[in-house]
Amino acid sequence: MLTLPCPERPRLNRSLKSAKNMRFPFALSAKIAGHIIKHKLRKTPKFAMVLQLEPLHTCNLTCTGCGRIREYSTNLKDMVPLEKCLAAANDCDAPMVSICGGEPLIYPKIEELVAGLLEQKRIIYICTNGVFMRKKMRDYLAAVYSPELEPNLQELLKQELVTGKEAETIRKTDATAKSKVVIRPSQWMYWNVHVDGLEFTHDLIVEREGVFKECILAIKMAKILGFQTATNTTVYKETDVQELDDMFAFLSSLNVDGHTISPGYEYDAAKKDMVKRLGKQPEDFFLTRKMTRQKFAKIQEWGEKFTIFGTVPYQEFLAGKRELTCTAWAIPTYNVKGWKAPCYLMTDGHYDGYQEMLSKVNWEKYGVVDGVARDPRCENCMVHCGYDPSGALGTNYQRGDNWKNFKYNFGAKPKPFTASEELTKRAFNGVTIGKGHLAEAKAAINSPRAAMNGAQAAFSRKAESHSHEGNGNGSCGSGDTSQRDELLAKIAGAKKGE
Ligand code: SF4
Ligand code: SF4
Repeated sequence: MLTLPCPERPRLNRSLKSAKNMRFPFALSAKIAGHIIKHKLRKTPKFAMVLQLEPLHTCNLTCTGCGRIREYSTNLKDMVPLEKCLAAANDCDAPMVSICGGEPLIYPKIEELVAGLLEQKRIIYICTNGVFMRKKMRDYLAAVYSPELEPNLQELLKQELVTGKEAETIRKTDATAKSKVVIRPSQWMYWNVHVDGLEFTHDLIVEREGVFKECILAIKMAKILGFQTATNTTVYKETDVQELDDMFAFLSSLNVDGHTISPGYEYDAAKKDMVKRLGKQPEDFFLTRKMTRQKFAKIQEWGEKFTIFGTVPYQEFLAGKRELTCTAWAIPTYNVKGWKAPCYLMTDGHYDGYQEMLSKVNWEKYGVVDGVARDPRCENCMVHCGYDPSGALGTNYQRGDNWKNFKYNFGAKPKPFTASEELTKRAFNGVTIGKGHLAEAKAAINSPRAAMNGAQAAFSRKAESHSHEGNGNGSCGSGDTSQRDELLAKIAGAKKGE
């Protein structure tokens, strides 16, 4: 996603010939490059590249391991007023804004927020779990409907992406629907849909059957309507690498425009205690750096086959080919409490202004330098929001980095995979074929072996978190990663033992 300008002009001209089919659109790459050049010329020591804007922390899902919701559990009903969201974007002046949360499509002023950020000429990613996307696109259709759009509507009907009743409502649009601010297709905006695996895995992680299917329907609808779509995937300890390969191939066959992938963040505070007290190896509990690098060994291969967003140095870092230093200040987070420091993952304080945060935080206390963690909580962190900008900003610069970034981002987009029954069959491997995760989990915990292992207790705790759903308060999952790990390990153990 991030890229650097390159001084190698002759090769530049050759690459620009294919500007229309670049991995990351030319206008967007040029905007980001311009931003970096501006600050390099001004010798700005620290500046923002991507704003992680969290207008609210309320969510309609209860994903296991969602630390966000847990950390801000007392603020679930709080929201950042629209004006403050827009002021935060101006304050840090990042060329890209990732609207996340919580579920940003629940934010009552999401349309106005997107419109406001577009007016500020920023690149926008709406990071969504996908559940409300089709509703937002129906609002868009109702606002712009005219008979010329009938072929699109017919296609949506044919692919069962809208119902007959919904199509009728769109056609009978009235002045109120027409005057609504809506989210429209734009070359400056991406729907960025959270997809953590194929159907079975994804629905398990988000703790609700049918969510994967809804994401896919929403992506298909978005593509028909001319929206740009991307996906973001978090890799956990239990993530199967082959499944990621299948997932990217399937998403590519849907013409998804790009993918962000990052290892999950596992708090490390308890690691030493666990090792000491239980005599276990860290690998038993955590996605360590070593494990992350094993999982991401193929990332550059994926980058050739699929439209993976990100800098080449970051990919090399993930694959274990080099070290990078964290530049968390380049992807700052703004939320109901203000500017969150030092990063999206850890909270040591909140500040009123971006510059205030930059000047007051002792950045030398954080990150991993030459394999040594300055803060124990950073030890196993290799996440996108800490290290991807490092690859664009020239941190730990190695000769040829600029050219590599340029070639990758301005280079040709990998050809989409051809849609096939086989890919679709592999993708819908969960509730669609009667393998719902709830049924699997229940079956696993009901086995005598699982009962002995205590899976029943783990599942009961998760069932309690489900009970928050539908209470109208927008409350969310516990966010306890250990619960997810515990449940998955016990289900897997129970399956093996049967
Ligand atoms: S519960 Fe899931 S969808 Fe909601 S904010 Fe957390 S990770 Fe995102
Ligand atoms: S390494 Fe950077 S991004 Fe990761 S936890 Fe530490 S400060 Fe945050």
